[in-house]
Amino acid sequence: MISATIKREHKRLCDDWGLQTGLQYNGRLGRLVLARYRPSIDTIEIGQMPDDYGRDALLDIIRHEISHALDWHRNNGADHSPRWRALARLVGCHPRATSTMEQRVKAVQGQC
Ligand SMILES: [Zn+2]
Repeated sequence: MISATIKREHKRLCDDWGLQTGLQYNGRLGRLVLARYRPSIDTIEIGQMPDDYGRDALLDIIRHEISHALDWHRNNGADHSPRWRALARLVGCHPRATSTMEQRVKAVQGQC
């Protein structure tokens, strides 16, 4: 199930940035990779979130993935390049808040 916080922020950001990116739950995600953007279907998949994740952490996750969608649509970008980081800042990510997750995800799957 996707939290109302994530759903609201997803809709707000899609409206603000002119995206039609989908949002769906993927029960296979959630242990190490909490969310991911899939360019092939222009959809953000959200896994089961840890119970102790607060509103700020949830907002950061959806903003992180929206930044990937934006980078993909604008530049065919699919990484965490400086260009992506600049977009992420515009979208409102807090790079420091995601860095721990980023490193964990990279170590396991090489992407997020
Ligand atoms: Zn990422």
